[in-house]
Amino acid sequence: MQRLAWCFVALIAAGCFDGERNVSNSKLSGQDQSDAPSVSVAPPLEPEQGGVITNAELRKRLTPEQYRVTCEKGTELAFRNEYWNNKRDGVYRCVVCNEMLFDSTTKFDSGSGWPSFYAPAGTDAVAEHDDFKHIRRRTEVVCKKCNSHLGHVFDDGPKPTGRRYCMNSASLQFVPREEETAKKASDGRRPTSDAPKASE
Ligand SMILES: [Zn+2]
Repeated sequence: MQRLAWCFVALIAAGCFDGERNVSNSKLSGQDQSDAPSVSVAPPLEPEQGGVITNAELRKRLTPEQYRVTCEKGTELAFRNEYWNNKRDGVYRCVVCNEMLFDSTTKFDSGSGWPSFYAPAGTDAVAEHDDFKHIRRRTEVVCKKCNSHLGHVFDDGPKPTGRRYCMNSASLQFVPREEETAKKASDGRRPTSDAPKASE
C-alpha cells in the first residue's frame, strides 16, 4: 500500500504533474463542500482524480489524528507521539504529499516532547505563516507543497540556526536512511537536499 502510494508520488513528481507549486492552490472537489476543510490540502496523489485529492479521500487515507493535525491545525500530545524520541538516522516526509521535510541530522532533543529540528530539509520544504490563534503570536509551519499543518517554529533553538521547528509526529512519516537511499537509487527521483543547512 505504502509503496504503491510512493510510486504514484514519484511518478507525478517526476513530471506527470507539472503544476509545481500550484498544488497548494488546488481546489478540493466540489462534492465535498459540506465537509469544509480548514486548509486546502490538495496534493496530487491520486492520478485518477486528476491531481486533486478530496477532503473525503484524505479522511479515508489518514488516521483521525493525522487528519486532525494536518487539516485542522491540531496539536498532538507531548511525549505521546511517534517521533519525539526517535533517534534513528533517516528523513521525515510529509504524511500527506510525501515531500521531504526534515532530516534526522538536524533533529535535536528540545525537551518539549515533540520532534524538534533546527532546520528544514531545504529552502523549499516548508512555509511559515503568522498564527494569531493564541495570545502570544506564533509562527505556524506548513508543508510548502501541500499546505498541511506541521507545527510551529520558535527562535529558541540551538546553533547553527537558533531556530526550533517544533513538529507534530502525525504530520510526518519517518523513512530510515537505508530505505531512502535505496529508493532514490532505484527510481531516480529529483534530487532532494542531502545536506540540510541552516536556513537563514
Ligand atoms: Zn505535504
